[in-house]
Amino acid sequence: MSWKAFIEKQKTAATIFTHALRKNELSHAYILEGPKGTGKREMAQLLAQTLFCENRKGTEPCHECRNCRRVLSGNHPDIVWVKKEEDATLIKKEQITYLIKEFAYRSVESQMKLFIIEDADLMSSQAANSLLKFIEEPHQNTVALLLTEHIHQLLDTIISRCQVLTFSALSRKNLEEKLIEQGISKPLATLSSSLTNRYDEAISYCKDEWFANARLLVIQLVQKLLNSTQAGLSTMYEHVAPHFKDQKQWDIALDLLLFWYRDMMSIHLDRLGEVVYCDKLDELKSQTLQKSLQHIADDMAYILKAKRQLLLHVNGLSVMEELIVKLQGEA
Ligand SMILES: [Zn+2]
Repeated sequence: MSWKAFIEKQKTAATIFTHALRKNELSHAYILEGPKGTGKREMAQLLAQTLFCENRKGTEPCHECRNCRRVLSGNHPDIVWVKKEEDATLIKKEQITYLIKEFAYRSVESQMKLFIIEDADLMSSQAANSLLKFIEEPHQNTVALLLTEHIHQLLDTIISRCQVLTFSALSRKNLEEKLIEQGISKPLATLSSSLTNRYDEAISYCKDEWFANARLLVIQLVQKLLNSTQAGLSTMYEHVAPHFKDQKQWDIALDLLLFWYRDMMSIHLDRLGEVVYCDKLDELKSQTLQKSLQHIADDMAYILKAKRQLLLHVNGLSVMEELIVKLQGEA
């Protein structure tokens, strides 16, 4: 990752860092906060590479020199990276004491020292108090990065001594790209990033067999609904209903159904780039030919109404029954 690429994804944080790097005016402590999967760890790594790179060009590190590689492998002597130990529930006081001791020595190789605390909200209260004492005293040429998904769980006294950089949730496109980078197929990546803007949630959908099957069942249902076979209800009873057990799962079913109709609308409006069921484009196109824009809009309104009924705790199955009769009547 480069700063240039980060400016598109996390504009505020990347701009603040590149500006400070250019002017050589980094603050002593930063909090990088925001949802999981938004690039906090990657940006901390990039800052570390930038600070120690042997062939830095402007603000961009080379990613290839010995120092850049040592940052990536976690072996740079002037960087202390603290995170919760595997079987512990909190970051312990000893880990912070170790960090403070490391900083009492002069930097080993360069003028600069960097410490990074991952999941800083998991510091025990003793650990947090030790850290507070440490960042209260000025240390020359040190930069502290605290990474957290839950900033409100940090001590106010720590927050007030740091510059807070907020990482925003990824856009749908960015989240989709990130999932594809992780080896997720495009149809699943597009679908799950339409359901949520949280990376952790999206990736767990993608890895969940239930979700992949839910997608196939909704496609099967919609084929019956849109091919005027009047077989919507029987398909729903035989195949769909056994798969969706509670309100949350039915709500996902309705979203998956809604995306199909929204795709037809996107095709009507010639916005192919917005199609979620991208692997079903031919089928979607031929179905779209059979429906007017007004019909599709009406169908979407029925689905949205069904979602509201679910919220009011109407039983999922009866919501679906009513919806299918309506959608089929429209076909
Ligand atoms: Zn380098």
